[in-house]
Amino acid sequence: MNTTNAALDIRKIREDFPILKQKLGNQTLVYLDNAATAQKPLSVLKRLDQFYQKENANVHRGIHLLSQIATEAYEGVRQKVLNFLGTNDQSEVIFTSGTTAGVNLVASSWGRNHVKPGDDIVVTRMEHHSNFVPWQSLAKETQANFKIVELTPDGKIDFDSLERSLSGRPKVLAITLMSNTLGTLNPIREIATKAKEKGAMVFIDGAQGMVHLHQTISDLGPIDFLAFSAHKLGGPTGSGVLWGRKEILEGIPPYQFGGDMILNVEDQTTEWNELPYKFEAGTPPIAGVIGMGAALDYYQALGRDKIESYEAHLTQKVLELIQDQPGVRLLGPKSANDRGCVFSFQVDGVHPHDLSTFLDSKAIAIRAGHHCNQPLMRSLGIPATARASALFYNLIEEFEVLFQGIQEARKYFS
Ligand code: PMP
Repeated sequence: MNTTNAALDIRKIREDFPILKQKLGNQTLVYLDNAATAQKPLSVLKRLDQFYQKENANVHRGIHLLSQIATEAYEGVRQKVLNFLGTNDQSEVIFTSGTTAGVNLVASSWGRNHVKPGDDIVVTRMEHHSNFVPWQSLAKETQANFKIVELTPDGKIDFDSLERSLSGRPKVLAITLMSNTLGTLNPIREIATKAKEKGAMVFIDGAQGMVHLHQTISDLGPIDFLAFSAHKLGGPTGSGVLWGRKEILEGIPPYQFGGDMILNVEDQTTEWNELPYKFEAGTPPIAGVIGMGAALDYYQALGRDKIESYEAHLTQKVLELIQDQPGVRLLGPKSANDRGCVFSFQVDGVHPHDLSTFLDSKAIAIRAGHHCNQPLMRSLGIPATARASALFYNLIEEFEVLFQGIQEARKYFS
């Protein structure tokens, strides 16, 4: 099968990821757990090494040269994020520890100051716990109604349910760009426009979507916030971004206190720093942010359009492969137009955990479980799925190895 997309040479790209050549036992790793975290290109590893060997200092505080170098490197990443998001105001880019931190910041600071008893907080059935529980908890605290938009049988947003959920007093709609379990790609522009017409604030979970799609803020339509994590993009763990509209960020209080978010402290009062520092308390994840910058550079160098188109091609090929697999039932959309390269499936007669353990013995890494989507699992009437998730460095041959392993598992457990 052709593994060289017209634009990206995947085999060459794989050379940038030393871990993919690794043998586990005597078998080469097949890494298909990218929705959990991505592998890191050498350029990110080298950037972290350089930072810790030559530039390590705390940011913003030091007059000394090293601190200035570290600050410049750290602050420089804000511009890279702006380029990634296709927008231009640095005060709208808040460095966080990841998507979860971004959701919690907004649910807490914005939520407690805007949501009133009887308002509606709207999420969808496919939200990751990180974009579900903070809103559920806010609803309890503020005596708001917590509404869940249901899905169609093939795992897409049910627009009738969306309309119903937005028909009351929607204060916020929190929705993912891409499902981490079903692979569904949500038409955010259309959905955000509907929510805005009803006066809701729109929060987008970009943890998966920003990894696989070439979307800018303006592509996403009238959204107010977008969160994503560096580690799913080939950056280090412990860093991420919350993008938010300046006029909203200016009007809400800090989330955490201490360090750079402070301008001046009197005995009884404190003045907050300006944006984005108002939301960056304590020593930030400096190395993580600098490493994220290297990961964004890597994406930019490959070309996000090319990544998106290779992954669409890979998704199509995997869908074709799955069709020929006896006993394998794919969840979520069946068309490559509606989904990305995250595949959850059930295998007749084999529990997902047993399957994952069996495949692990062949150095094939997939994920089994509820994928932090328990409300979704409940609605599907299943406790768990097996999930194989790809990134631009994966080859269709790796999925062939996966499905061969799955068929062996079926025989073994029958
Ligand atoms: N949302 C989605 C859709 C995710 O896939 C994840 C990570 N699995 C998260 C949120 C949480 O991201 P993080 O753990 O990096 O904060």
